[in-house]
Amino acid sequence: MKRTILTLVASMVALASSAQYYQNKTNPDILHITEPRTQQRVNFEIPQVNGYNVYKADLHTHTIFSDGQMTMDYRIREAWMDGLDIYAVTEHMEYRPHEETFIKWMKGYIREDVKGAKNHRINYSEADSDGIQVDLNLPYEQAVKLGKQFNVTIIPGIEVTRTPATIGHFNALFIKDANKIYDADPEKAIRNARKQGALIMHNHPGWSRTSLEMTDFEQRVYDKGLIDGVEIMNGVEFYPKAIERAKRYNLFMSSNTDVHRTSYEVYQMNGHYRNMTLILAKDRSLESIREALEAKRTLAFSFGTVAGDEKLLQDLFNASVKVVYSAVEKPGRIYLQFENKSSIDFLIRFGESGDLARLEGGKSIFLRHKDGNDTNLIVENMWSEKGRTVTIDLKPYLEAAK
Ligand SMILES: [Zn+2]
Ligand SMILES: [Zn+2]
Repeated sequence: MKRTILTLVASMVALASSAQYYQNKTNPDILHITEPRTQQRVNFEIPQVNGYNVYKADLHTHTIFSDGQMTMDYRIREAWMDGLDIYAVTEHMEYRPHEETFIKWMKGYIREDVKGAKNHRINYSEADSDGIQVDLNLPYEQAVKLGKQFNVTIIPGIEVTRTPATIGHFNALFIKDANKIYDADPEKAIRNARKQGALIMHNHPGWSRTSLEMTDFEQRVYDKGLIDGVEIMNGVEFYPKAIERAKRYNLFMSSNTDVHRTSYEVYQMNGHYRNMTLILAKDRSLESIREALEAKRTLAFSFGTVAGDEKLLQDLFNASVKVVYSAVEKPGRIYLQFENKSSIDFLIRFGESGDLARLEGGKSIFLRHKDGNDTNLIVENMWSEKGRTVTIDLKPYLEAAK
């Protein structure tokens, strides 16, 4: 008992002595218990790949302007803190359940007979143009102001939101006027967006479905060339079959949060970076980002897994991981020091039968390569159209090591 108390006292002294108090400059009666602190950004680093910078984007987001729970101000600060460079505004065009609350709150300003004074949820069978009375461009206008402040590039967009099981959801990115896209016919809405020069991304293709089988509507819009990109990862969902589809239809691949609550509770609280679409672009201007999407220079990152085009995955790995040192332990055995310059953890092994090693982001490890070991390095947490593993030819590394 005595020892417990002594330990307790000792630890309290240690705590007290490590604490520092900061007196408020204008009111000396205020003590700040910790040093004044501003927001902190997570630096998610990836070296240049094929001469391009790798930008971190979220191409699918929500705020209180549709069915999200946070304000735009919070979203942009959150994007910056989470390490993003690019944020797309993609509120649901036809699903805005907070609208009724706003209208009730503002009842003193609104005439009784105003149209649209109802909880506007899309009625899938009779999506009515009367339901949209709000200015759908306002979310983007807010985001742009905040984006300038936080150095986050904002893509203007909107989510065309129809019955998940038959039609699905489509993000129109790089739109000009969100108020001129709606049409009860979803294909017409997509065409209206394309007329403005938008790129169309098919969202969460497996969500609320029993398989990734394409519906008639999907088949039609894909075959007509109205789709430019597809989410192969959305929130905690990953659709490996969508990689093959993206290759077949020549689409950019993305991984997005579709964030409705805070990113913290889905990702950081569980020890993860948030989902990101990695975009290989010249710079972070809208023109360059768009050019990169059109050239399909994107990869998808979600919960430590990277997915996309096989060649691009290999290029990203080779740009991130180098053999920086080698030593011959004895004939036929070489120690190789692998250095990982990116923030991504890679799970690697020599061939199918090699032991699995974790090469953490920003760290180096030694691996022993023995004669007879496979000269292919398999990266377990990379997925391409060919499946789970992406193989890197180790011979150049071994040569470089000599
Ligand atoms: Zn959606
Ligand atoms: Zn969404």
